[in-house]
Amino acid sequence: MSTQERRYDVAVVGSGAGGGMVAKVLTEAGAEVVLLEAGPMWDTARDSAMLKFSYESPRRGAKTPERQFGEFDAGLGGWSLDGEPYTVADGSLFDWFRVRMLGGRTNHWGRISLRFGPRDFKPRSHDGLGDDWPIDYADIAPYYDAIDRLIGIYGTNEGLPNDPDGIFQPPPEPRCYERWVKTACDDLGITCIPSRMSILTRPLNGRPACHYCGQCGRGCAAHSNFSSPTVLLPPALATGRLTLVANAMAREVTTDGRGLATGVSYVDKTDGNDRQVAADIVVLAASACESARLLLNSRSALFPDGLANSSGVVGKYLMDSTGTDAAGYFPRLANGPPHNEDGAGDHLYMPWWLDNRRLDFPRGYHIELWGGRRMPRFGFLDGIEKTPFGGGYGKPLKEAYRARYGATVGFSGRGEMVPNARSYCEIDPEAVDRWGIPVLKFHFEWSENELLQVKHMHETFHRIIEHLGGTPLTPMPTREEDFGILPGGRIIHEVGVTRMGASPRTSVLNAFCQAHDVKNLFVADGGPFVSNPNKNPTWTILALALRTGEYIAEERRKGNL
Ligand SMILES: Cc1cc2nc3c(=O)[nH]c(=O)nc-3n(C[C@H](O)[C@H](O)[C@H](O)COP(=O)(O)OP(=O)(O)OC[C@H]3O[C@@H](n4cnc5c(N)ncnc54)[C@H](O)[C@@H]3O)c2cc1C
Ligand code: SF4
Repeated sequence: MSTQERRYDVAVVGSGAGGGMVAKVLTEAGAEVVLLEAGPMWDTARDSAMLKFSYESPRRGAKTPERQFGEFDAGLGGWSLDGEPYTVADGSLFDWFRVRMLGGRTNHWGRISLRFGPRDFKPRSHDGLGDDWPIDYADIAPYYDAIDRLIGIYGTNEGLPNDPDGIFQPPPEPRCYERWVKTACDDLGITCIPSRMSILTRPLNGRPACHYCGQCGRGCAAHSNFSSPTVLLPPALATGRLTLVANAMAREVTTDGRGLATGVSYVDKTDGNDRQVAADIVVLAASACESARLLLNSRSALFPDGLANSSGVVGKYLMDSTGTDAAGYFPRLANGPPHNEDGAGDHLYMPWWLDNRRLDFPRGYHIELWGGRRMPRFGFLDGIEKTPFGGGYGKPLKEAYRARYGATVGFSGRGEMVPNARSYCEIDPEAVDRWGIPVLKFHFEWSENELLQVKHMHETFHRIIEHLGGTPLTPMPTREEDFGILPGGRIIHEVGVTRMGASPRTSVLNAFCQAHDVKNLFVADGGPFVSNPNKNPTWTILALALRTGEYIAEERRKGNL
């Protein structure tokens, strides 16, 4: 193994949301930072397929094993990665979505950017389930404000009690079908408001406003939406204090006889050789489960169960969001005049609107809306054969497509899972990846709480569809079908495996995401989450990473680190 002679102030593993933010904050605070990224470099301005038509793809835009969300999608990775397996325990279903590239999953994420609310940080105090976070909304609110200003987000201030307002740019106008669905929501008492997404509708910090091409998942060549390589890494690089090492697959965190982190060992994927960087502080931001894997693989005489794991909690309390989808066919939207409904993501959504005291499940969900006359690609309309009178061959098929284009509207529920002890990841003693690094084994179980929640999602989708005179494209899933809940991991909101807490006996990190056991070791991804509210996690990963970065900078200034 070769060790670079240079010693850095900080080594960060992973260049996604969390790693990008920490690298920016710390380089701007004067630290020399080395950032290890397992994937290749990626330049959105050069590599994005934002302006290609689906017909330019031999597959008409359909997915490939390496691009799970379509051939032109920006994300290099998916549910499986060549040479990087994981295993799943008998009886469990869990799918792990990983991306290997500069910026990680921020290149093609959905940009739904929701703050957690005051109640989300104190769930146990509210309903007796799960655990409270050691921080509350007031602790993190200034960091949400700061990322709103730095990154840019559209939305509206609504004064909802548990969906905090922000510093919003104006939202785009709702599309025709969105306005129509909103009328049903108004009739049915379902809150329906403008989406909150990190896409610029006004220029900000040198980045132009969106031109509404509707292709955010391919990466924005104009830099109008958020990704780590377009918003966080350029200012970090501009300081001259960031050393970026691509194709560097971290193997473990190295430690000394005093139990402090000394750096990171990694595999240089370009030649397969083991290398090592030395640093005073290590920040893991490799995505929640990968950071847990790194800790569990960093065993030594002082840390026989893995680093920072005296509590035994590393890998525990794995959570994803609950999720299920349904779509309806709406004759009233069929045969509409040709027009374009691309845009900037979804323009309306439904935040949680009910009181759980009157329901048979805890916690809530939000509903994302999809549909409209956007650029077609393979599989659009959610399968024409499912619409009444759809399908066939030749001319009738073409006519059916024209008539029904824009007449399908879909609903996706994304809800809160209560953490449970049966959902966790651990090192599989029998499997390694192509570099000999032991891999994760997942155990996952939904409880009755989550099953009843998705049942309610489907009931809501069907109520809206029927209220608007539509036909659901699929029947209500039954209990035997677990009410249509998607397997764990499928919503790609996996968090919680290095949880924060006040006590070193029951948590891995303190309230600043600093390991209880190793004071110069931090985690800056979704691992520190104590609960996983129905708000998608990334805005909170970013806010926490900003807070952690500022804490590290301050502790360095005081000489504590
Ligand atoms: C299709 C899709 C849609 C999504 N939509 C939304 C949404 O609308 N809203 C939302 O809030 N969230 C969404 N998410 C989730 C969001 O992308 C993640 O929450 C977020 O990117 C997590 O940030 P992270 O920094 O923890 O990890 P990542 O962004 O995954 O970054 C981790 C980085 O670490 C690198 N890495 C991993 N292992 C190692 C290693 N051993 N050594 C070195 N480097 C390593 C990876 O290559 C990667 O670049 C979506 C995700 C997907 C895939
Ligand atoms: S919709 Fe807007 S932000 Fe998204 S890729 Fe197009 S121009 Fe960029």
